[in-house]
Amino acid sequence: SARRIEGLDKNIWVEITKLVSQHQVVNLGQGFPDFSPPQFVKEAFIRALNSENSLMNQYTRGFGHPPLVNILALFFGKLLGRDINALDEVLVTVGAYEALFCFFQAMVDDGDEVIIIEPFFDCYEMMAQMAGGRPVFIPLQPKPVSGRMVTSADWELDPAELANKFTKRTKAVILNNPNNPLGKVFTRKELELIADLCVKHDVLCLSDEVYEWLVYDGKEHVRIATLPGMWERTVTVGSGGKTFSATGWKVGWAIGPKQVLRHLRTVHQNTVFHCATAAQQAVAEGLTKELECLGKPESYFISLPQELQRKRDRLAASINAAGLKSILPEGGYFLIADVTATSELPCATVPLEGLAAIPVSVFYSAEHKKEFENYIRFCFAKEDSTLSKAEKILQELC
Ligand code: PMP
Ligand code: GLN
Repeated sequence: SARRIEGLDKNIWVEITKLVSQHQVVNLGQGFPDFSPPQFVKEAFIRALNSENSLMNQYTRGFGHPPLVNILALFFGKLLGRDINALDEVLVTVGAYEALFCFFQAMVDDGDEVIIIEPFFDCYEMMAQMAGGRPVFIPLQPKPVSGRMVTSADWELDPAELANKFTKRTKAVILNNPNNPLGKVFTRKELELIADLCVKHDVLCLSDEVYEWLVYDGKEHVRIATLPGMWERTVTVGSGGKTFSATGWKVGWAIGPKQVLRHLRTVHQNTVFHCATAAQQAVAEGLTKELECLGKPESYFISLPQELQRKRDRLAASINAAGLKSILPEGGYFLIADVTATSELPCATVPLEGLAAIPVSVFYSAEHKKEFENYIRFCFAKEDSTLSKAEKILQELC
């Protein structure tokens, strides 16, 4: 096989999918909702399939179905406070995953350094390596807290350590905001720190914002592309799957300046070329409706985070009642917990009493894995009935 894939064959998502297919488990492992997407996007998908316009079942524009790139340009134009060109500043991809892949393949060259903030969504490391790049890790450090529950906001970057990671070879910084698995939502001040270093060293920023609408407790999601000097060096990645609780549709996007996006298009046209037309049409209609009611109570982008915040609190309470320590996330689908108190760790490979979850060590580099062996990630984007089953299993741990 080619050298570029050496050592990259193991994958936690392949393992967990196999595990849950072989055992009866309560699955708080891989991050996907076990509830349905909202009716309005499902109806849009069905309408597209049944449409008189037979073209809805055929190829569309390879870089993105026109209705979808148009609404993405309009929507993100509003969010980022600038005019976005639908044709050369937006690329539709097969899930956010493909947008990440296109970025690494298009922008990272042999020997380039890529700064990755730990804990990180696992594929960044593998994708950087596959592109010939060298991942350089910087950990978020938990600061000591007493007398209250730890939250993801208590995990911080050390500014001097971060500054030291930038070298002449640094090509890009990978930001995941809100972060998977910790759930950290970066503050404006933290983003300014990262942005200033990117500008100073002329470095790109890949900002993976797939959980952009899932922010809790009234926290603000700040987009790094809006900070001074950042639009021209940032590729913002999003996911229709996470946005509309339809992860199996695999519609994602990359938004950024045309001088960068043009290289992502080259990778896209030479790999998958095209994403499912009807799924793109459904996401386009969903975003069109959401833009009309942005910020209003009837918006799905208001009701979904409210619902998930409630589920987060419920799972955190079950975990804490079992004597384990939750770290309350400010955003996203996941909650990590310190499970030192139990000798029987629920984890991906050996589910505890039928509870599947992900060991947090998979979100760390080889060097730092050991320090986080006692942490487990749980997905709370689940039906209340699933969370009740998990609660029962956790109670038995007490
Ligand atoms: N980035 C992060 C941080 C994720 O958690 C995921 C998983 N949903 C992805 C990217 C990939 O998203 P998609 O399912 O749209 O490919
Ligand atoms: N993002 C999801 C998670 O972290 C799914 C991972 C994947 O699809 N590779 O669980």
